[in-house]
Amino acid sequence: MAKGLLIIISGPSGVGKGTIRQAVMKDPSLNLWYSVSLTTREQRPGEVDGREYFFVSEKEFADNLKRGNLLEHACFVGHHYGTPLDKAEEKRLEGRNVILEIEVNGTLQVLDRLKDQDVVSIFLMPPSFQDLEARIRGRCTEGEKCIEERLKKAKKEMGMSAHYKYVVTNDSVERAASEIQGIIRKEIELARSSMTK
Ligand code: 5GP
Repeated sequence: MAKGLLIIISGPSGVGKGTIRQAVMKDPSLNLWYSVSLTTREQRPGEVDGREYFFVSEKEFADNLKRGNLLEHACFVGHHYGTPLDKAEEKRLEGRNVILEIEVNGTLQVLDRLKDQDVVSIFLMPPSFQDLEARIRGRCTEGEKCIEERLKKAKKEMGMSAHYKYVVTNDSVERAASEIQGIIRKEIELARSSMTK
């Protein structure tokens, strides 16, 4: 069986990666599996351990890193985030197309580490910086300092979109999700045809 693709959905904090990812995953024909990350940040109201993230202590995070069980990891506004390698690899070997929803530094690590493999990198761009600022202000529960840091970081991240294979603007959830579904469909076809050559 062909190994599944590794699909990265990235973009600045607040751009709507989670909403778009959920909309993209509604198409069962794409055979997608979402990789839940580890994080040391506090659980927000409404978040469920094991669904949005695995909320872990600094020690648990460091242990995973030491064991080599993080495909990539990054420190974002003072908290650690990382992709567990074992599950993602297991699912890809089962033929599932694995989605990571991660920030830019983590993406660069994956692109560097898995150079010759089937990695599809997609950067989600907000329609404007003002729009992004309003979204970050609306949902950040961690105070003004954290908002300012996230905004500064978002500006920097938007300047790094050239590292990605695809850039998609999140002007509407349905449109952006459908564009991404089209990209994934095309990439699945490409991977299939290169296997039969
Ligand atoms: P938040 O705290 O808003 O949930 O996430 C902060 C940032 O970390 C977001 O851009 C999110 O996509 C990113 N992120 C979440 N999980 C991971 C991960 O496993 N690795 C990396 N590099 N970034 C992550």
